[in-house]
Amino acid sequence: MTVVAALDIGGTKTAAALVDGEGRLLRRRTAPTPAAAGPGAVLDAAAAAVAELAAAGGPYAAVGVGSAGVIDAAAGTVLSATAALPGWAGTALRDELGRRLGVPVAVDNDVHAHALGETWRGAAAGRTHVLLVAAGTGIGGSLILGGRVHRGAHSAAGHLGHVPVPAAAGRPCACGGTGHAEGVAAGPAMVREYRRRAGEPAGGGPEAVTEPAAVTGLAAVAERAAAGDAVASAVLAEGAVALGEAVGGLINALDPELVLVTGGVSRCGPAWWRPLRAAIAATTLPLLSDVPVAPGTPGDDAALLGAARLALGALA
Ligand SMILES: [Zn+2]
Repeated sequence: MTVVAALDIGGTKTAAALVDGEGRLLRRRTAPTPAAAGPGAVLDAAAAAVAELAAAGGPYAAVGVGSAGVIDAAAGTVLSATAALPGWAGTALRDELGRRLGVPVAVDNDVHAHALGETWRGAAAGRTHVLLVAAGTGIGGSLILGGRVHRGAHSAAGHLGHVPVPAAAGRPCACGGTGHAEGVAAGPAMVREYRRRAGEPAGGGPEAVTEPAAVTGLAAVAERAAAGDAVASAVLAEGAVALGEAVGGLINALDPELVLVTGGVSRCGPAWWRPLRAAIAATTLPLLSDVPVAPGTPGDDAALLGAARLALGALA
């Protein structure tokens, strides 16, 4: 049976796997992404990860890549990327990896790869119209329409955190705009808001050294909410409502069979999920009130399986 290699390249880590044509993960490894060393080092590390897997697990026919950033899948290039991957924009991802590994390579955005993996062997297996919501450091997503990734006219489809919602009115967003869901619903936005209301240092400056160790991130806010901290619960609920309004509006516009929610924010427990579901229910049209909203597949597997699917496509 055909075996392909899959890569999931993020700003902090790169996951690699060998996957067979039935979508079985045969072997995998994860290594830090040498992001600060530049694109050449990131590509070398990705190629080395695949080569190591092949040395132990045997040959592969093609490589599929899900990468952070806006990816032109047809040209195989990185159109833009965040500061987490300095210099990544402009990288000829497909050709550079093809040159290093000597097999066909297919590339796409990592969230699109995740959605493909979910519809192949994950929480959306067998579904053809799926909205994937990735809620973490930012709010991204992917839309599978008729079984295919909808990339849009500029490869930019899926920026669903930048939908304006009432709950985010007047609040700044990382994109430079205001009023977008991400400005309230993303993990860092909720952490900042919790620290502000709890009277804790905002972090990031010299005062970060004296920050209480217990409140360093979103997991701590979620723990406090679960333990009955009213401020933590309120902040998580406000973020969830902002995202729920955006998702509900997208359900109305796109009519998916299923909505999957993934990412670090989706692991905040019932204090987040309950208001999310309530806001979606309050926003969707009556005809669409039964569209299921569920967690995605935990871990990296779906993104790797989607990358493998891309690789199989490169062979077709
Ligand atoms: Zn925005």
